[in-house]
Amino acid sequence: MKQIFPSYYKNFRCIAGDCRHSCCIGWEIDIDADTMEIYRNFPDIVQRIDTSAEPAHFRLTEDERCPFLNGCGLCEIILNHGEDHLCQICDDHPRFRNFFGNRTETGLGLCCEAAAKLILGYPDKVTFDADSTGCGGDSGNEREFFALRGQLFAIAQNRDLSIVERMREMLVFADADAVLPARSLTEWAEYYMGLECLDPARDDVLTRITDRELPFDAHAVPAEQLLVYFLYRHLASAVEDGMFAARTAFAVLSTRMVFAMASAIAGNGGITFEDLAEAARLYSSEVEYSEENMDDILWELDDLQEFR
Ligand code: SF4
Repeated sequence: MKQIFPSYYKNFRCIAGDCRHSCCIGWEIDIDADTMEIYRNFPDIVQRIDTSAEPAHFRLTEDERCPFLNGCGLCEIILNHGEDHLCQICDDHPRFRNFFGNRTETGLGLCCEAAAKLILGYPDKVTFDADSTGCGGDSGNEREFFALRGQLFAIAQNRDLSIVERMREMLVFADADAVLPARSLTEWAEYYMGLECLDPARDDVLTRITDRELPFDAHAVPAEQLLVYFLYRHLASAVEDGMFAARTAFAVLSTRMVFAMASAIAGNGGITFEDLAEAARLYSSEVEYSEENMDDILWELDDLQEFR
């Protein structure tokens, strides 16, 4: 089985106590069965787990913090028992994986502020590297998909073109060119406000989006990294669902929305790298970590293309 990683992957470090949006706050964390068996041997752990429902999960505090997150933002399970005692979700986060017949593609999710800064700040064209243990080939369908996706990566990373030109070429290549001019940014913001909301900060930002031009040229590298990230993470499912056009349009729309949200966060000043990283984190948390929202947006994009 080949294991594929983006070239920035090994540089990731959790910033733990310095994290302003810790993944240990606001999320119910399910515990996998194997780790639960281990936790049963530790009274200090098991007493803070809700086992009344399946799967068992950590009993959050009143302010929605993981009960093991201490006042310094550090994990008491790691401090007292070691990293090898983390459950699977905590050990994995913020990684995601896409599975193919003979390869697993792993990446880092933008919902983590450390990952967002690493991805958006990566200066080079991202490559996708296979570890040395890989063997075996991809199926015919998958080979065709990887070839098409490779061409989309090449367009997204063509630094001879502006970001707007790259976006246009990507949409034409994927036969999704009718999707995005269909709505203005403010209309899209309104649409996003109708989706499931996980963090009220989202609507505060979305209501401040305007139709002014987005500063892609001043931040071409982060824009490129966003396009590549969304393609790498979300195009893979097109092998199963056939939504190649909608998923390509999703990558372009998401990049535009992150920039629009960063502009809203910045207010009247020019957007900074910090604004972009924060907008990417918020967008990812609200969209990529809600299956309902992901489905809604993909079907919306599919409909827009179909009824052009
Ligand atoms: S969100 Fe990222 S940086 Fe923050 S605590 Fe979680 S893994 Fe660490």
